[in-house]
Amino acid sequence: MIPIELEPSPSIPLHALEALQSDALLPICKACGTQYPASFDIQRNCVICEDPRQYVPATGQEWTNMAELGEGRKHVLLQDEEDGRVTMIGCEPGFAINQTPILIETAEGSYIWDCSAFISLPLIGHLSKLKKPLKGIAISHPHFFSTSLTWSRALKVPLYVCEDDKEWYQRLSDSKDDDQVIWWKDEQELGRGVKVVQCGGHFPGSSILYWDRLSEPPPPKDSLPTKPTPVSGIIFTADTLMVQPTQLSFAFIWSVPNMIPLRPHSILSIQDRLKSLSFAQATSSWPNKWIRQDAKQILEQSVITFLAAEGWRIEEGKLVELIT
Ligand SMILES: [Zn+2]
Ligand SMILES: [Zn+2]
Repeated sequence: MIPIELEPSPSIPLHALEALQSDALLPICKACGTQYPASFDIQRNCVICEDPRQYVPATGQEWTNMAELGEGRKHVLLQDEEDGRVTMIGCEPGFAINQTPILIETAEGSYIWDCSAFISLPLIGHLSKLKKPLKGIAISHPHFFSTSLTWSRALKVPLYVCEDDKEWYQRLSDSKDDDQVIWWKDEQELGRGVKVVQCGGHFPGSSILYWDRLSEPPPPKDSLPTKPTPVSGIIFTADTLMVQPTQLSFAFIWSVPNMIPLRPHSILSIQDRLKSLSFAQATSSWPNKWIRQDAKQILEQSVITFLAAEGWRIEEGKLVELIT
């Protein structure tokens, strides 16, 4: 990973400053990073954390806001060494579940996959000056909703959220007429070679972002890259399916913090949704979770291994209970 230096005091578009200012004091759950409208009663617990796929800490519910998050925290951008068009947007110190959005710079435009609660002026400055202008932000599922409406307003780009997770989006009540929230289902093309695909499982709308790098035009002759650029398809998985620590297999989890696996039928359905995509690489929405080659074959094997651990094998596409 190659760190990218951010300009500390960039000039920022007025609409970005307005977006940050108007949302600066809205409550944000400290455990999961979800931002709520001003009308939300903070005597209550966070709705996302009360769900068994997250957790309200044993020490109790705590709230913060974007103004507080900005104190002593900075963004750390890490560009992938192999493919410089992929950059992880982290922050120090980390926050909530360390959500790490990913910047993907394609020939036709740039996209942000997933979101985190912290947004800063240096980051907005960087994202406003990309060689390929930002065209949208897409979110995998409710654990990454965080402050995505603020990001969309500050960066003036559409926000893509799967319709089937709409009930979990906490800022519906204070959205404005000129907000660009695009509710999609099944599959949504974001630009040439880039689409989001609904897989379900972890949440009904849990999705992945697919980038068909083979569809990228060849680089101009006067700026040829000094090393080979990957052309294989890549899936950005969040925790719809998770790259395991060995980086040689996937896990299929319904609740990550509470360690509850996905149901066998949901695992098969994820595999089915990814069947038509051609990909060799995968990465989750945290740093250092990559499968660099054979990701599709690894997916097939991981499904078999995971189902076997849950007591099932697949025979002619059907689940058969293992007698043990
Ligand atoms: Zn929460
Ligand atoms: Zn999740």
